[in-house]
Amino acid sequence: MIPREGGSMVRCYVDLGEVPAGDRSIRATTVEQLTAVANSILHPYSIDVKEVAWSSVYEVGQRLAERFEDVPADAVATRTPRVFIAGDACHTRSAKAGQGMNVSMQDAFNLGWKLAAVLEGRADAALLHTYTAERQAVAQDLIDFDRFWSAFIAQPRLDPAHPERGGVSAEEMQSEFARQGRYTAGLATTYTRSPLTAEATHQSLATGFEIGTRFHSAPVIRVADAKRVELGHAHRADGRWRLYAFADAAGERLRDFAAWMGEAPESPVSRFTPPGADIDGVFDVHGVFRTDHHDIDPTSLPEILLPHSGPLGLQDWEKVWARDPRRDIFRERGIHADGAVVVVRPDQYVAHVLPLSARDELTAFFDGILRDQRAAVRR
Ligand SMILES: Cc1cc2nc3c(=O)[nH]c(=O)nc-3n(C[C@H](O)[C@H](O)[C@H](O)COP(=O)(O)OP(=O)(O)OC[C@H]3O[C@@H](n4cnc5c(N)ncnc54)[C@H](O)[C@@H]3O)c2cc1C
Repeated sequence: MIPREGGSMVRCYVDLGEVPAGDRSIRATTVEQLTAVANSILHPYSIDVKEVAWSSVYEVGQRLAERFEDVPADAVATRTPRVFIAGDACHTRSAKAGQGMNVSMQDAFNLGWKLAAVLEGRADAALLHTYTAERQAVAQDLIDFDRFWSAFIAQPRLDPAHPERGGVSAEEMQSEFARQGRYTAGLATTYTRSPLTAEATHQSLATGFEIGTRFHSAPVIRVADAKRVELGHAHRADGRWRLYAFADAAGERLRDFAAWMGEAPESPVSRFTPPGADIDGVFDVHGVFRTDHHDIDPTSLPEILLPHSGPLGLQDWEKVWARDPRRDIFRERGIHADGAVVVVRPDQYVAHVLPLSARDELTAFFDGILRDQRAAVRR
């Protein structure tokens, strides 16, 4: 039973038990029958149902589609997918883990930015294969978790007088629930090594931004107006890659990196931003300084950190950040004294961690994902 808004509303899950395969009559279960079953479960307590806002009969099935696209596994090298499925259409499990909506929306987010990149000519269609590769593994993982969790919470309560009868204590249940918290919050996904998820060679430069996992936000101070903001709130669901350049002590390496990123002909911005697009149209570059926000003069920074963009060409002042002395992001996320670049995918997963000086490696990483737009101009 889950309390709902309004003080008098409650959500009840009522276990109707197992039904023979193919038996559809269970779907016709009425509200009165549901109430009677709930009361038999709750006995010697009871509920008096005054009004039902919504009810449904849900059949738990732990099912996973073979592919989330129309291309069979043995034809991936020769065919590009044209049809995709997402959410409950390709994976179902019990409602008990509170994961279905989370995972379904993440499927769509994963697919959406890839489709946009391919349709707008920023990436080759091969990128679309990574959708099934990434999301099917997540769905399988979720079903495995669901099997474990469904069996765990279905155990009877442990009788301390008869431990030989088995069961689980309230304390064990509570501690297991807390342990699974990251899962229930939808934060347990870790993408494995692929063109979109780099080798963890430089992970030690930013230990709190684990490659393959969701970007873990922390507060920072926005230099332009001294406002305390969660860095993760800089993310927009707009299909852009985010590069967070975390500074060295003096901030010089960060400035060098930002200047290179915005101006060098071999930088990802120069190579992969389509002609005519905003300078931050593909890569949204942010600088996070170690110093107090009073010590930074944003007007002295390279253009990529203060770009003129958008339909009106207005200057964007919201890409330069300073350490929040009350909660230091550098300490909380384990950023190395020499700084680091944290590359975040459009769907908010950390794709790479690199030194501020690793220019070739950064360009090579994007070379494996995005189309060189200079070649497009020459064609
Ligand atoms: C009782 C219950 C409790 C749940 N609790 C949680 C929870 O706490 N947290 C959580 O994260 N998830 C929860 N879930 C799971 C979550 O609701 C689903 O995983 C999620 O809604 C799946 O989204 P979807 O878009 O893939 O599918 P759906 O939400 O099922 O959307 C599919 C849509 O397609 C429509 N449709 C079907 N056929 C056609 C057709 N031929 N033409 C046009 N339209 C069609 C349907 O009407 C529906 O609107 C719960 C599920 C249930 C049943």
